[in-house]
Amino acid sequence: MENKTIDTKILTTSDADIEIAAKIIRGGGLAAFPTETVYGLGASAYDADAAKKIYAAKGRPSDNPLIVHVASAKGIEDAAREIPESARVVIERFMPGPITVILKKKDVIPDTVTAGLDTVAVRCPDNETARRLIEKAGVPIAAPSANLSGKPSPTKAEHVINDMNGRIDAIIDGGSCRVGVESTIVDLSSERPVILRPGGVTYEDLKNAGVDVEIDKHILETFDGNEAPKCPGMKYKHYAPNAEVIVVEGEKDAVKRKIKELISENKGKTVGVLTMFDADYDDAVMLAAGATNKEYAKNLFSALRDFDKLGAEIVFAEFCERDAYALAVRNRLYKAAAQRVIHV
Ligand code: AMP
Ligand code: MG
Repeated sequence: MENKTIDTKILTTSDADIEIAAKIIRGGGLAAFPTETVYGLGASAYDADAAKKIYAAKGRPSDNPLIVHVASAKGIEDAAREIPESARVVIERFMPGPITVILKKKDVIPDTVTAGLDTVAVRCPDNETARRLIEKAGVPIAAPSANLSGKPSPTKAEHVINDMNGRIDAIIDGGSCRVGVESTIVDLSSERPVILRPGGVTYEDLKNAGVDVEIDKHILETFDGNEAPKCPGMKYKHYAPNAEVIVVEGEKDAVKRKIKELISENKGKTVGVLTMFDADYDDAVMLAAGATNKEYAKNLFSALRDFDKLGAEIVFAEFCERDAYALAVRNRLYKAAAQRVIHV
């Protein structure tokens, strides 16, 4: 890849370091930064060439658009030309926060950022470092997740360093991400609001705020290649660790019984188990997903990367619906497993 020889600066969250990253972005370079969801790989959202560098650094297909990050709700007007009433409710109630709105785009946002669409995805992150960076840069920041395309999204600076060292200009280390899965995406550009990707702001949260929202039917399916996806990211391979991942979903005892059986069928392989139930399996390396779906969201991507480090060849992921984060976790988990799910 073309960016491989860049000397990547590892930065802290000090004012001086954020100024260095802001200057890189103003100058058309790439800087990765923490947000409350996952780490973002940022470039000026007004700079078509800088946006191209993002696609190159990630190996991202050019038809998968980027999310534009702004420092305050007011900044949305820098990217969107029309803000309908439904969007105003979402913005007022949930921003800053882990939610992205799709709106009609302004001409200043280049086609490379939106992959040629007439709409733009915008969000205001609930992370102080991210907002300071955007403010100092003085431009909205286009940023997808800061991982190599197809890999689990990064929730710690070390994940970004592993994927992006030598490919981008700087990485700000801001510790672990609080939410751990990417933002909820809500399409507000046409009549009825639609959730295109579940995340930290849940369907229930939106309904309770009076937003008449529906969930896109593709969320729990693999894109079958025939129908055009609304959210272009839906059709690509996602979150894949080296190991084959298989989800075992159901209540505790049945899941444990099934995984014990699967472990014995896979003797000779390095088996990993991502556990919600503090299960104790022989002949497997275990990582904790957390007892709730909210904890699972925070731990999932990091655990998938850790299984790679542990040399796991096959990973069984326990899953049980526990709270409103279930949809967001299931969506990522099913993709990581390429839809290999055993219901027990
Ligand atoms: P990432 O930040 O890597 O998780 O990717 C951003 C996600 O936002 C991708 O799944 C995109 O398809 C989606 N996205 C960005 N812009 C738009 C848009 N204008 N319409 C629909 N989805 C979008
Ligand atoms: Mg991504």
